[in-house]
Amino acid sequence: MFEASRAKALNQLDYFVENNLAEYSRLRNFDFGPEKRSNVSCLSPYITHGIINEKEVIQKSLNKFSFSKNEKFIQEVLWRTYWKGWLELRPNVWTDYLLELNKIKNEFQNNQDYLSAIEGKTNISCFNEWVKELKDNNYLHNHTRMWFASIWIFTLELPWQLGAEFFMQHLYDGDAASNTLGWRWVAGVQTQGKHYLASEWNIKKFTNNRFQNIKLNENAPPKVSGKSYQIIKQDFNNPLNIEDKNLLIFENSLSFEIADFKDNNFKKIYLVSNSNENRSIKLSEKLVKFKSLLIEDQEHRLKEQSIDCQNINISEIKNIENCCGLYPTVGENLDYINSNNLKINFLYRNLDQLAWQYCNKGFFNFKNYIPKIISSLN
Ligand SMILES: Cc1cc2nc3c(=O)[nH]c(=O)nc-3n(C[C@H](O)[C@H](O)[C@H](O)COP(=O)(O)OP(=O)(O)OC[C@H]3O[C@@H](n4cnc5c(N)ncnc54)[C@H](O)[C@@H]3O)c2cc1C
Repeated sequence: MFEASRAKALNQLDYFVENNLAEYSRLRNFDFGPEKRSNVSCLSPYITHGIINEKEVIQKSLNKFSFSKNEKFIQEVLWRTYWKGWLELRPNVWTDYLLELNKIKNEFQNNQDYLSAIEGKTNISCFNEWVKELKDNNYLHNHTRMWFASIWIFTLELPWQLGAEFFMQHLYDGDAASNTLGWRWVAGVQTQGKHYLASEWNIKKFTNNRFQNIKLNENAPPKVSGKSYQIIKQDFNNPLNIEDKNLLIFENSLSFEIADFKDNNFKKIYLVSNSNENRSIKLSEKLVKFKSLLIEDQEHRLKEQSIDCQNINISEIKNIENCCGLYPTVGENLDYINSNNLKINFLYRNLDQLAWQYCNKGFFNFKNYIPKIISSLN
């Protein structure tokens, strides 16, 4: 489904805006099945890797329709930015998640319910199909992610941390913020006391009757977490002097040609990949391959513009002097940098600098600032 190239991503964006954006708000909640995805954009694997960015997506949509006609789509695009910012202000949520995951993994390594779930061998047939789809296509519809997570937590009674890991291992758009916070939200620990309970009628309706007679626990209480998180980081300032430095680009910013810093002069660009040995969550082979093809595609485009660049592994960045890096955001790459005490001057995107200051409260509050955020994109 997902070809690893910017050219393909741009085609997909154009096609979606021309043909399907008009009906997005009415149809987006339906999962018509893996062969019928035209009601959503399927752009997330590209946006997650910075192959195309929010600014491009929003601007193209606004070239086609007015803000009011487009509001729902733009809100969804900026949910991602919101989750990112929320986690940036509270990075301990990610650190704690990995610690909890590590502990739970040991406890569950031989647990039959867990093993049946990740093999798609439960007695819930829609769930089993989604496991297969996740492994085959490395993508699930948003509504299906919600049902999947809810069934995992409340009917199969498995820890949300393991489900979030399973998604990260396979999703081409796997992202520390959207994924961890999405699972926390379904469980009821993100907005304390409010969980998402999947129900048979809802699955039946929004899969267009593809699934029915599903026996679910539709009355489970939300999960409870004793932890609450204070905002601990709020400065995202760029260094003053970046000319003639080496530039590190991580897997989240793989289109330098649309970066805010594209007009600066860098000595050389290093495209940094991160292999499983340095990750807490080990990615599936297909996902590793997808990432490496996206990096190759960026390398190819840079070389076409005669920009000096080189692919390196994250373990090699300690050898690169005088460098700064496009900010990798909270997640595995930043973890590697911090745990190895590497000092890198990070460059933050204008969009993030602006939007993240509004991520201190809920999305409802963030939404008020969307017109302001959009006007600054121009
Ligand atoms: C449990 C759970 C886990 C998730 N894990 C991830 C993840 O790892 N990575 C990820 O990118 N998204 C994740 N999401 C959010 C959402 O499901 C996907 O972004 C969306 O399904 C991508 O499909 P699309 O591009 O067709 O979306 P569209 O509906 O076409 O939306 C356009 C863009 O808006 C953004 N977006 C839409 N919905 C959301 C949302 N709810 N949260 C954040 N951004 C959104 C995405 O960048 C998406 O590409 C998760 C949601 C849940 C409930």
